[in-house]
Amino acid sequence: MKPPVFAYHAPRSVEETLELLAQLGAEAKVLAGGQSLVPMLNMRLVAPAVLVDIRHLDDLDTVEVADGRVRVGARVRHRRLERDDAAHAAQPVLREALELVAHPVIRNRGTSVGSIVHADPAAELPAVVALLDARLELTSRDGVRHVTGADAFLGPLESALRPGELATAVEFPVRSPYGGAAVEELARRHGDYALAGVAAQVDLDEDRRVTAAKAAFFGVGGEPAAIDVGQALAGQPADALRVDDAVGLARDGLDPDDDIHATASYRRHLAGVLLGRALVRAAAAATTPTAASTPDPAREVHA
Ligand SMILES: Cc1cc2nc3c(=O)[nH]c(=O)nc-3n(C[C@H](O)[C@H](O)[C@H](O)COP(=O)(O)OP(=O)(O)OC[C@H]3O[C@@H](n4cnc5c(N)ncnc54)[C@H](O)[C@@H]3O)c2cc1C
Repeated sequence: MKPPVFAYHAPRSVEETLELLAQLGAEAKVLAGGQSLVPMLNMRLVAPAVLVDIRHLDDLDTVEVADGRVRVGARVRHRRLERDDAAHAAQPVLREALELVAHPVIRNRGTSVGSIVHADPAAELPAVVALLDARLELTSRDGVRHVTGADAFLGPLESALRPGELATAVEFPVRSPYGGAAVEELARRHGDYALAGVAAQVDLDEDRRVTAAKAAFFGVGGEPAAIDVGQALAGQPADALRVDDAVGLARDGLDPDDDIHATASYRRHLAGVLLGRALVRAAAAATTPTAASTPDPAREVHA
């Protein structure tokens, strides 16, 4: 199918973009990588009167690691973030999640901020945002506001973005010296959206025992939210986790849907299996120092 008729603007600055978005309101859609928007236009699932293409906004094409955050501008493509060594050292779960997003050809065009504001419940990055309590920066002519973690998602394909706003960046916290995270998913073919997936985070004390743990699922509900499973793992040694209680706790909190790909009960079962694997790998990652984490002398002794 062909898209409905629309007007097209490609502003040259953030200010010009914000002015256009303020004037057009709900009539406009931002065009970033187009990897979700263009198929939706072609299928006539959306019909904005105007597309505002942000391709010229070079100020937003930056990845910065500073002040305990990995800041990713709205023009940054998935593939660029995936390959950024400083971002990888600072928060390794980003590369792990991005490698599971579609195929390289789609990651070469699609943007990470676009994926987050698109808020597909089967997408990897929104779950990582919920898990890490990452901060989305939303800018309008009236100023900047921030939404954090699961507050960035209101429902399937609905983020906290309001008409007139441009998502200018997302900021992920740098991995803590005692924290690790991992992503597990099952897709029918590599690169497909996952039938179910989970991002998990485990924090340890200096004796390598669990102090906190949480998980954020994708493909198993309407929008990602972090589930606290720390009480089911607290005090356990990182190298000998017993995950059954945590898996049971998380499964009780899930409410997946049936669809043509899987039944709800299969998804719930699968989500638990994946969580068990992700927790074990997250705990292992938490015992591995990264370049960006500040090694603690006590931890070096235990390593
Ligand atoms: C075949 C295929 C397979 C895919 N598989 C996966 C997958 O497995 N996992 C996954 O996570 N994704 C997958 N995707 C989606 C891909 O990751 C998209 O690139 C991403 O979801 C959207 O990013 P984009 O930059 O292309 O956004 P666009 O398509 O340009 O925009 C998407 C939506 O977000 C809005 N938007 C984008 N950027 C901004 C901004 N800065 N400010 C305000 N609004 C904005 C747009 O207006 C639009 O509503 C797949 C896509 C395809 C085509």
